[in-house]
Amino acid sequence: MILHSIKWRLQAWHGFLLVCLVSGLMTGFYVFERREKLQAIDAELGEVLTPLLPRYAPPNASGPNARGPGNRGPQRPPMREGDFPGPPEDGPPMRDNPPDGPGEPRQPGGQPPGNRERAMLAFASGKFYYAAWLEGGERIAIATNAPAELTKPKQETPNQGRILRTRGENRELVQFVPNGRVVLVGTSLTDTLMQLHKLSFALVLIGGGIVVVGFAVGWWLATRALRPIAEISQTAGEIAAGDLSRRINASETESELGQLASVLNDTFARLQATFEQQRQFTSDAAHELRTPVSVILTQVQSTLNKERSGAEYRETLEACQRAALRMKKLVEALLELARLDAGQTAGKREPMDLSRCAADCVALVQPLAGERKIQLRSELAAAPCVGDADQLALVITNLLTNAVHYNREGGEVCIATRVEDGAAIVTVSDSGLGIAPEHLPHIFDRFYRADAARTSSQGRSGLGLAITKSIVSAHGGTIEVTSEVGKGSSFTVRFASETEKA
Ligand code: ADP
Repeated sequence: MILHSIKWRLQAWHGFLLVCLVSGLMTGFYVFERREKLQAIDAELGEVLTPLLPRYAPPNASGPNARGPGNRGPQRPPMREGDFPGPPEDGPPMRDNPPDGPGEPRQPGGQPPGNRERAMLAFASGKFYYAAWLEGGERIAIATNAPAELTKPKQETPNQGRILRTRGENRELVQFVPNGRVVLVGTSLTDTLMQLHKLSFALVLIGGGIVVVGFAVGWWLATRALRPIAEISQTAGEIAAGDLSRRINASETESELGQLASVLNDTFARLQATFEQQRQFTSDAAHELRTPVSVILTQVQSTLNKERSGAEYRETLEACQRAALRMKKLVEALLELARLDAGQTAGKREPMDLSRCAADCVALVQPLAGERKIQLRSELAAAPCVGDADQLALVITNLLTNAVHYNREGGEVCIATRVEDGAAIVTVSDSGLGIAPEHLPHIFDRFYRADAARTSSQGRSGLGLAITKSIVSAHGGTIEVTSEVGKGSSFTVRFASETEKA
């Protein structure tokens, strides 16, 4: 479970990187610090070794008290173990043979101490020790603070000059002189190792602290960043369980997940609206179908109650036929809508002229207009477009029928076709009742009737404009309406030219 969690995987990777980075940095720092300290010690060893060489390893010396050529001055007494070597013969005057321990070199003129003086100070403070051997292995000098087990170092190659070595907790610099003598200076690393130990402990503490804080901050960020996912899955679960009104609380809309949450919220809202429309549609369709079925049942029932005359039976059958016809129209309209919704009729596209299609529709509606003494006026200019001629004829017929139906007796209906900006346009205007502004946004909804009580009794289903709009949309066109109550309405359908669509 933990391995499959995005948060844990992020944390594991983040933690791994953090540990690698911190341990790398801390180790690097430790190694650098250790090398610096050892290099400083090595440099000091070199500094304290140099002044010893003229005394214990003069180039031509052969015995423990031999002195190099050019050396002048009184002969020194033989060195005893533990004696401080004293300054080289050509160096500044020094206190002769001071014991190990505090001993101040003379510093003429208060000058800062030179190599020899520093060597003197270093040996006097007991920080460094030294030893010297003759070629044959005989030790000619050793400091009292030198380790007891100190033996003459072995030269590994004939021409080896200086070597630096770490022996136990001691760091030693050994000088092999060509005449076979060996001089060694060394110092204890105990303090340095203790300091390094403390440093490593501090670094582990600091590194551990950084890892813990980094991990905690990473955990907090990951929790915060992934919180919308938990909310999304919870909300999606509730929606799946049937509560379509639920929405994700997308407070952080700037983040990617926040944006995803708002996209999902929009989708949920559209889903809810679609389900709501679907539910409304089913209920409306059932309601519309129930009316003619009820009419048929009532008519048949009352007729069968007693013996009727032939004329009465005929009247009943005619009423049933009207109801059945109404049902037929309704079912056909529903089927048409279902086909349009499924996009089954979208494929039929052929070049046609809207003006010719409109002329056919006018001829079809003319009798109806004549019945109501409504004048049908046509202003048909060529308007070529591409589409399904039968469906576009249905669009124009629906608009014309409505224009006649919702007109006053003796009114006028005008149909015009034209091309405007490359688009084929058909306009149907009437001088009828007009549509109130509050109804205008809904007249293309399924089963919507501005005056439901009156129009349903006249067999109007409220599906005509819904079908019209679906067909127009399927052709990539638009339909607009302007209307004024008492003056009339004007419907404009616009089919974009092929280049405009592309
Ligand atoms: P119906 O079958 O009721 O005519 P439609 O979808 O064709 O259904 O029209 C929806 C509603 O729009 C109608 O009930 C009517 O109120 C209104 N309407 C449509 N066309 C016109 C028009 N030309 N003049 C006035 N009202 C109209």
